[in-house]
Amino acid sequence: MPYVIAEPCIGVKDKSCVEVCPVDCIHGDENSPQLYIDPTECIDCGFCRSACPVDAIYADNELPPEWKDFEGINAAFFAD
Ligand code: SF4
Ligand code: SF4
Repeated sequence: MPYVIAEPCIGVKDKSCVEVCPVDCIHGDENSPQLYIDPTECIDCGFCRSACPVDAIYADNELPPEWKDFEGINAAFFAD
């Protein structure tokens, strides 16, 4: 049940979540519109969700239906 970053992060990217993640699994780069959670590294602690100022982060099974695509969008950032 990894956590997923959804649409509200786009254009915000303040990295509050990065600072609290105990396993350093939240990444992005200068060109990415948002940050992403590596689903293979996330330990489901939920710290990032509490830290996000715009409520962009959800457990994958709690994603609002309109943002369900972000599960794949997050995973794709880490796929080679
Ligand atoms: S749920 Fe925990 S481990 Fe997963 S991305 Fe958020 S802070 Fe990191
Ligand atoms: S805390 Fe929220 S808005 Fe900030 S980078 Fe993380 S997911 Fe994006």
